[in-house]
Amino acid sequence: MQNALRQYAAVAAKHWRRSVAQTATAQQGQNQLRQKPLGAPSATSTTYTRFRAQRAEDEARFVRTRRKLAYGMISFIGGLFVARHTERAPYTDRLRFLAMNPKTENTIGLNQWNEIKTQFHGKILSNRDPYTRLVERVGSKIAQATGIKNFEWEFIVIDSPEVNAFCLPGGKVAVFRGLLDEIIQNEDELAAVLAHEIGHARQRHGAEKMGTVQILLIVQLFLWAVLDLRFITDPLIHFIGTLPFSRKLENEADYVGLILMTEACYDPHASPDVFRKMGEYSRKRGQAPPEYLSSHPSDASRVKRIEADIPEVQAKYGASCPIRYY
Ligand SMILES: [Zn+2]
Repeated sequence: MQNALRQYAAVAAKHWRRSVAQTATAQQGQNQLRQKPLGAPSATSTTYTRFRAQRAEDEARFVRTRRKLAYGMISFIGGLFVARHTERAPYTDRLRFLAMNPKTENTIGLNQWNEIKTQFHGKILSNRDPYTRLVERVGSKIAQATGIKNFEWEFIVIDSPEVNAFCLPGGKVAVFRGLLDEIIQNEDELAAVLAHEIGHARQRHGAEKMGTVQILLIVQLFLWAVLDLRFITDPLIHFIGTLPFSRKLENEADYVGLILMTEACYDPHASPDVFRKMGEYSRKRGQAPPEYLSSHPSDASRVKRIEADIPEVQAKYGASCPIRYY
């Protein structure tokens, strides 16, 4: 990836140098044209028409060159910006672009949280409700396993039949009552769902998604300048930017969730179990899958992947837990 970035910067620099040379040539042509006396059209009107056509062509070339120079510079600066904000994700070591600072991300999360609380006003279960206490107890253990210091954790249960849960940046966790009524049968299963959601926040996926949009805009600008094939590049960028990337984030949240729940001494086998149950529930009801299941083409392959990760995760992160399951 770093090599790719270096190549990208080299191409942008080359393009920029070429653009500077072209601009200089075009500018020279312009100056020469300006210095020439125009004269009046006479018997040699063909010469005059040719002269005007030539001038129009030169002007058009000059505009094109200037535009390319601008794109070249933007691309070059964009390349440097991307290189500066590229880092490795915790747990998975995945190389990623992350430009947003954590404070801004948490503020965005808090604003969304306040909106949600207003939206579900009167439907949030009290702190003393057994469901809220359950979510708080399990969620706090997962939160502790993240090691995050700059989150102000909050756990609520929304009195709604929806089967869903989420965690916003800054540690704001909500569980819908439907999930607890219909799917969850023990604390391990709840830990699996919460750990997946908290895994997204731990990995700062919200900020990353916003950053991806930024990077795609820079790439698009670069492709426009070099290829000028907008009708091809637009759909291509759209395709690259949506489907595969969001699956990657879901897979990472599965893996990090498995680690977090294991570190909190919950049984990681509950993760594929609860996932299977939620898939069956959605299919039976003919409903759209909840966030937990989104962006996955095949339930079976996801379950298999999670099951394959369990032994390694257990050995690495569950060693200090009291022997309960294994
Ligand atoms: Zn997810």
